Amino acid sequence: MSEQGFFPEGARVSVLTAEPIGKPLDYLAPEGGCFPGAFVEVPLGPRRVVGVVWGAGDGRFEAGKLRAVARVLDVPPMRAELQEFLIRMGSYTMTSLPGVLRLATRTPGLFDPPGARRIYRLGAGMPSKLTEAREKVLAVLRDHGGAGFYLTELAQLAGVTPQVVKGLVKLGAIEEAEQPRDLPLPRLDFTLPGKALSEDQAAAAAALKGEGFGVTLLKGVTGSGKTEVYLEAVAECLSRGRQALVLLPEIALTSEFLSRVEARFGARPGEWHSGVTEAERRRLWRMVATGGAQMVVGARSALFLPFQDLGLIVVDEEHDTSYKQEEGALYNARDMAVLRASLAGSQVVLASATPSLESWVNAATGKYRRIDLAARFGASELPEMRTIDMREERIESVHWISPSLVGAVLATLSRGEQAMLFLNRRGYAPVTLCRACGQQIGCDHCDARMVEHRFLKRLVCHQCGETKPIPTTCPACGVEGKLAPVGPGVERLAEEVAERFPTARVAVLSSDLFGSARALKEAVESIAKGGADIIIGTQIVAKGHNFPLLTLVGVIDADLGLQGSDLRAAERTFQLMRQVAGRAGRAEKPGVALLQTYQPEHPVIRAILGGDEEAFWKAEAEGRKVAGVPPFGRMAGIILSGAEIEPLFAYGNDLAQHDGPLRRIGAQLFGPAPAPIARVRGRHRVRLLIRADKTAPLQQAIKAWLRGVKQPNSVRLAIDIDPQSFL
Ligand code: ADP
Ligand code: ZN
Repeated sequence: MSEQGFFPEGARVSVLTAEPIGKPLDYLAPEGGCFPGAFVEVPLGPRRVVGVVWGAGDGRFEAGKLRAVARVLDVPPMRAELQEFLIRMGSYTMTSLPGVLRLATRTPGLFDPPGARRIYRLGAGMPSKLTEAREKVLAVLRDHGGAGFYLTELAQLAGVTPQVVKGLVKLGAIEEAEQPRDLPLPRLDFTLPGKALSEDQAAAAAALKGEGFGVTLLKGVTGSGKTEVYLEAVAECLSRGRQALVLLPEIALTSEFLSRVEARFGARPGEWHSGVTEAERRRLWRMVATGGAQMVVGARSALFLPFQDLGLIVVDEEHDTSYKQEEGALYNARDMAVLRASLAGSQVVLASATPSLESWVNAATGKYRRIDLAARFGASELPEMRTIDMREERIESVHWISPSLVGAVLATLSRGEQAMLFLNRRGYAPVTLCRACGQQIGCDHCDARMVEHRFLKRLVCHQCGETKPIPTTCPACGVEGKLAPVGPGVERLAEEVAERFPTARVAVLSSDLFGSARALKEAVESIAKGGADIIIGTQIVAKGHNFPLLTLVGVIDADLGLQGSDLRAAERTFQLMRQVAGRAGRAEKPGVALLQTYQPEHPVIRAILGGDEEAFWKAEAEGRKVAGVPPFGRMAGIILSGAEIEPLFAYGNDLAQHDGPLRRIGAQLFGPAPAPIARVRGRHRVRLLIRADKTAPLQQAIKAWLRGVKQPNSVRLAIDIDPQSFL
């Protein structure tokens, strides 16, 4: 595949489509010819589908039977760099080519011709009485801050018919407009001066201004100014006329970030994630391809945008588990960012206060560069961290806040400061137990317990999302009035807080309590301005939000993450506790983090408290090295799923008995075994796990192995290279 070549009319070309056929098909180049990488429409059976000219045809198909490419679409051809990225990503993650092409072309309306198209956005009129359906439409528009939608998309998001939208147009509540498509984005002015940097920050910023491919781990404590520093790298990249991509782990973080970019460069960058409307996504995709977008901020899928000249990729909070895509094509966006950068000749900045062990090791071995920001910016200091030994606390039953923590919260409130209580459990109670028969209420479709959500007044399965009313009688024994919630979730903790601190204003931050990213963002902004005294939160409070008045963080159950058998349990707990604690004392006032634990002498708890982080990473790395597990060995998960369990085990055992190709590369196979969550959405799940040495050709061996054993039609198979979750 070269970027030069050209296929004249009638030449044989191979065209890859996102259809599940497995490989590119041969066609004849259309009138006027086409370039490699061109986006084309081709006939496939009775249909016409979009594809990419992948290269020259292989000539195996009989020439007389070949069909011609129907037309070349009016978008810049896919560059060889992106093609190569898709190929390498596909072979690394063992995803089919159509599967990876889908990631790069998933935007509806992408290939419709330019010109104007009708969009719908909030109008000035406000009808006095609204039906529920009309309310829903307006809520969607408000949640997207006034952005314009195509009719079908708006109706679909609101769950109403297009007629409802049209009705609102008549009332003036919505306005129709002809919007020219593909408007260029406002230019970012990279010559504007940034904030005056501290000496450390300036040194870090200077070190990030490399050219060509290179990876840097930017490790800086929370609040040290990593964002300010990497924005300097963005400025440098833009000044060279190249494009920059910043990946963030959470959509809720983008709006604060967009404002920071606007303050720095005078305009907002392109935004790419599931919360952006189709019209905007189409526009951005095209602007990225033509060079009309200088900078993109987005979720992991932004990695597949058709950048013209990508000079820099920043992966912020690089340790975050949400970079791993766990459905469909299974890939880790952090690792794929490094792959894409190596092909595009870009710099990568991996920013984190608590890097993944993978990146820490890569820096330790010299594969990545490492830059440290050891102190918080300005006067603010890192919080002091202490444990509360729960064995010595006198705590009433059905209560979780120890007297020591209550005292600390009261002292904080009396100073007019904010306190945060962290519990990584959504809902009211994780278990609903029948006190008569001992039955725990489970999901009908999954091997998971239903979690009571009092706010929703329902039981919810956190695996599949299924909900049902909270029953009054036990479904197992039929006894009435004996079902009781067991254990705390954030909603239950909120009850205890209300009881203990009756005059405090309480805010609960849990992803399920907010209908949209915008609602969550508003709550976060209000808290930052002092709109609450006590913040109760799950994992989402650990991520990057800035609460200047917050000086106390209390962790309700610091032991929670240590119980699992996951190889990353220690690493994850360490990262999470450090991140949560890092929320405290970000402004002038010093912060304190208190960890409630029953095992204060546990090595991980001690490492979290202790100043010697490097010692923790070293010990953790040593343990993994001895066990030969990532990042010192390689792993792959094979997940078999199906409606019946017998064929899964039959196939799994068959695979286990024919593991020659794996043994030949020295790999070990474990399983088949029921997956820890053995049933999801009514489908049974069986797992096999492979461990191999770091240099072993794992993917080739897996391919050969799977080819050797016939897969029953009733079984679905998914391959997870470098699994992050073992569920
Ligand atoms: P991090 O990304 O490491 O958590 P940030 O870049 O968000 O840190 O910086 C933390 C806070 O300090 C932010 O409010 C930021 O605006 C401020 N800050 C950091 N560096 C500077 C600087 N050089 N001048 C002024 N404010 C700064
Ligand atoms: Zn379920």
